[in-house]
Amino acid sequence: MFSKILIANRGEIALRVIRAAREMGVGTVAVHSTADSDAMHVRMADEAICIGPPPGTQSYLSVPAIISACEITGAEAIHPGYGFLSENANFVQIVEDHGIKFIGPSAEHIRMMGDKITAKDTMKALGVPCVPGSDGGVPDLDAARAVAEETGYPLIIKATAGGGGKGMKLARSADELENAFRTARSEGKANFGNDEVYIEKYLGAPRHIEVQVFGDGRGNAVHLGERDCSLQRRHQKVFEEAPGPAITPEIRAEIGATCAKAVAEIGYEGAGTIEFLYENGEFYFIEMNTRLQVEHPVTEAIFGVDLVREQIRVAAGEPMSFAQEDLTVNGHAIEVRINAEKLPNFTPCPGKITQYHAPGGLGVRMDSALYDGYAIPPYYDSLIAKLIVHGRDRPEALARLSRALGELIVDGVDTTVPLFLALVEEGAVQTGEYNIHWLEKWLETNLG
Ligand code: ADP
Repeated sequence: MFSKILIANRGEIALRVIRAAREMGVGTVAVHSTADSDAMHVRMADEAICIGPPPGTQSYLSVPAIISACEITGAEAIHPGYGFLSENANFVQIVEDHGIKFIGPSAEHIRMMGDKITAKDTMKALGVPCVPGSDGGVPDLDAARAVAEETGYPLIIKATAGGGGKGMKLARSADELENAFRTARSEGKANFGNDEVYIEKYLGAPRHIEVQVFGDGRGNAVHLGERDCSLQRRHQKVFEEAPGPAITPEIRAEIGATCAKAVAEIGYEGAGTIEFLYENGEFYFIEMNTRLQVEHPVTEAIFGVDLVREQIRVAAGEPMSFAQEDLTVNGHAIEVRINAEKLPNFTPCPGKITQYHAPGGLGVRMDSALYDGYAIPPYYDSLIAKLIVHGRDRPEALARLSRALGELIVDGVDTTVPLFLALVEEGAVQTGEYNIHWLEKWLETNLG
């Protein structure tokens, strides 16, 4: 096992990793920008190193600064968290070239899945069902018209390098095709430096269902069921649950086995998520995330495992601590993403926290880096806390969510808590009968 690891991240996810490492007796090094000198992850780690000025590009994304921090402190491995450098294949290559272990998959696998066209080709070849559409990249408008002819409208044009909902454009009919094609290309170019795009059939009312997989890098892999992340705003998840209300144990076992087999076959190492749209009983692969996801705690709750501990174990060359037959679903879990944002427009709202009180009690987990008097810096993501509840069944989890939200106090900044207090009262949330468009429509009616 490693004696010391460095966490190349900040906020709640840095704390999450530090906690797992501490329980394993592994030392921790935090890195931080000058804006984060007073941050919780800096206080909680065994050691901390300042790696640069506030902008992420000069600190949390600075590869030389992070490698230097490793060399100065003697950290043997790097956990990237999510976001920042977590899916940057070049970074992983440099880390490994310096004799440091990257806690996550190989650069090759990150590269393979980071390019959505390659990812789709790979998954198709591995027997994973995909959304119908273009066969690979679409070079120009004429090619796009030809694909549209075959696929039919509506369709979605996606940048192969896209992410975070950027570089995706809907074309409802032929007259929207040209504009959507050009916009997707230019967004791909502007945000990711790559203007290659592909085309998919646009599904009308699917759910977003993602399967958690875990591999040991030596050809063994398991799945840890699914999460339903259909409640989204602008293609960004805000509320996630496991198991999925629309998924039966039989469906879970089947899609899970397909996913576990696929990642086992490529020798995948560590945690990964295979994302699908699910409509009329069919799964359609959209992308794979080669890292720990924000919403991983709902999976941890229902399977009773620590995914970060497992990531560190396999990175250190140890076997996974569970096999497929050890993994059984226990109850129901829900996560809500609490952002420092002002409703109704979700405007980022950084500032000083004048009072903070976290909810507690049975089945309540609060992953947050907040504390009384903490000043949320304006430079980073607006996620300030994840509230995760676990109950014996879905109604109990919902009641617990409502109760825990009522206990939570975050004063000094606006947050998305009022949104969740309203959502738990909604019929469609209570019955679980929603799809990826439900929340947008609800927001228009209720906050618009
Ligand atoms: P990103 O990498 O930007 O998150 P994804 O490909 O994962 O992009 O898609 C994000 C979200 O966009 C999905 O969860 C879904 O809501 C919507 N979406 C993506 N592809 C389609 C599609 N073919 N039809 C309908 N909605 C889609």
